[in-house]
Amino acid sequence: MPATKAKTAIKAKAAKAAPAKRPAAPARPVPAKPKTQPKAMSAKVVPAKRVAAQSHKSVTKSGKTPASKKATGAQKALARKTSSAKPVAPAKSATSSKKTSPAQPVAPAKPVTPVAPKQPKPVKILRNIKLKPLAWGLLPTDWRDVCAELDQPSFRARQIWKWLHQRRVMSWDAMSDIPEPLREEMAKRFDISAWTDDTYEQSTDDGVRKLLLGCRDGERIESVIIPARDQATVCISTQAGCAFKCAFCATGKCGFDRNLEAGEIVGQFIAASSVSPRRLTHVVFMGMGEPFANYDNVLKAIRILNDFDGLAIGARRITISTCGVVPGIERLIAENIQVELSVSLHAPDDALRTKLMPVNKQWPLPVLMEACRKYTEKTGRIITFEYTLVEGLNDKPEHADKVIELVRPIRGRVNLIPLSPVKHFRGVAPSPEACIAFGRRLQRGGINVTLRRSKGRSVTAACGQLKLSRVAAIEAASIPRPVIDR
Ligand code: SAH
Repeated sequence: MPATKAKTAIKAKAAKAAPAKRPAAPARPVPAKPKTQPKAMSAKVVPAKRVAAQSHKSVTKSGKTPASKKATGAQKALARKTSSAKPVAPAKSATSSKKTSPAQPVAPAKPVTPVAPKQPKPVKILRNIKLKPLAWGLLPTDWRDVCAELDQPSFRARQIWKWLHQRRVMSWDAMSDIPEPLREEMAKRFDISAWTDDTYEQSTDDGVRKLLLGCRDGERIESVIIPARDQATVCISTQAGCAFKCAFCATGKCGFDRNLEAGEIVGQFIAASSVSPRRLTHVVFMGMGEPFANYDNVLKAIRILNDFDGLAIGARRITISTCGVVPGIERLIAENIQVELSVSLHAPDDALRTKLMPVNKQWPLPVLMEACRKYTEKTGRIITFEYTLVEGLNDKPEHADKVIELVRPIRGRVNLIPLSPVKHFRGVAPSPEACIAFGRRLQRGGINVTLRRSKGRSVTAACGQLKLSRVAAIEAASIPRPVIDR
C-alpha cells in the first residue's frame, strides 16, 4: 500500500477508533477465527490441571532464605535421624518409580476437555505475605548449601535436583529415596507447587496454548506454548505487569506489580511441560514484563533451565527480549552464557521511538545501538531486532531506510511482526503486501529479515501482549531467502 494511502487509512481509523473495521486482507494466510474477541477468548477455556496449592498458613518464618539460622537445632536432630537412614527404593507410584528423560514430565498431561466457557474469578492480591521460596528457584549449588546446612551428604542435593528437574515431581513425598525426616524439613522450607488452582488454559485451533497461572500471592501471569513441527517453544513471563508502558503493549498499560522470583520463572516451564503435547525445546522471555528489569532472577532461571543434569534447555535455544534496557545488555556481555538476545526496536528514529517506547528517553537510539554493537563485537553473537509494523506509522520506505542505517553496522537481523490489535492502541497492521515490501527493502539494503505471522491470535489478543512473533509458526514465504531460525 502506498504510504500516502496508508496514512489516510490510519487517520480515518484513528478517528473512528475501530481498528477491527479494517477490511480483511485478502492474502493473509490466517486460519479462520471468530469475528469478535470475546468469542475467540471463550472458545476453549478450561481450568488447567489442579495443582497442589500450598496453604498460606503453613508458611514458616524460616522460609525467607534457605540459609536461615532458625533451624539449627532441628537440623542437628534431622542430621541424627537421617544419617542412619538408608536410601529406600523408589516407590512404585506413577510419579516416582518411572525413570523418564529430562524432557518428559512424569505425569503425562491429561487431555484437555473443552467445557463451558469460564472466565477466571477476581482474586485478591495478598501483599506483604511471607511465602516459602520455591524449590524450582534453587541451583544445584544452592541445594548443596542447604544440605550442608542440614548436615546432609551432598549426594542428597543431587537426588533432590533429579527428582525436581528430571522427574518433575510435584511433592516432597514423591521423593521416595530421600529419608522422611529430610523430606519433612524440606517441605517446611520450600514450596514445590508454584501455582494455585486459580490456573486456566486456553487453546486455539492452531495448537497454541496459553496458560493463565495463579501465583501464590494471587497475582496472575501468562505463559504460552507454541508448537512447531516436532518441537515447541514456551513464551515465559518475567514480571507480573510491566513498568515500561510501550504504546501497543497491553501489559504495560496495566502497570507493574512485582518481579517474578526465579522459581516462578522456571515454574512456568514446568507447568507448560505438563500440558504440552510436544517436548518443549525453546524458551523465549517475551511474555509479560521486561527481563532486564528483573535481571538476577531471569539469569538464575536461565542457569536452572540450562543445567545439563536437569531440564537441559540449550542456551542457544533461550531468547531474552528487551525493550532496550542498556545496563541489562551490558551485564549480559559479561555473563558466560550463550543465550540469544532480541531487542525491541519498533522505530528507527528517536522521536518516533520515544512516542512508542518511553524507555527511549532514558536510553535513546545512539546509546542503545552502541550497546548492541559492543554486545555483538564482544560476544560474537547476532542480535535480532524486533520491529512491529504499524500501518502508516513506522512502515514507510523512509523508515526502512533508517532501519538499514541503524542495523547494517551491527551483526543484526530484523524480525518484522505485524501489529497484534490491542484495545487501547489506535493502529492496525499493514497489509501482508506492505509488510513484504518493507521486508524486501530491508533485504535490498543488506539486512537479514524474517517476517512472521503470529499463531494463536485469539489467545494473544486476549492479553494484547504476547504477540508470539519470533517464536510463532512462520509465514515468510514471500520474502526471498528469509532467515528462519526455527
Ligand atoms: N519487555 C520485553 C519483552 C516482552 S514484550 C520487550 O519489550 O522486548 C515482547 C515483544 O512483544 C516486544 O517486542 C513487544 O514490543 C511486543 N509486543 C507487545 N505488544 C505487541 C502487539 N500488540 N503487537 C505486536 N507486538 C507486540
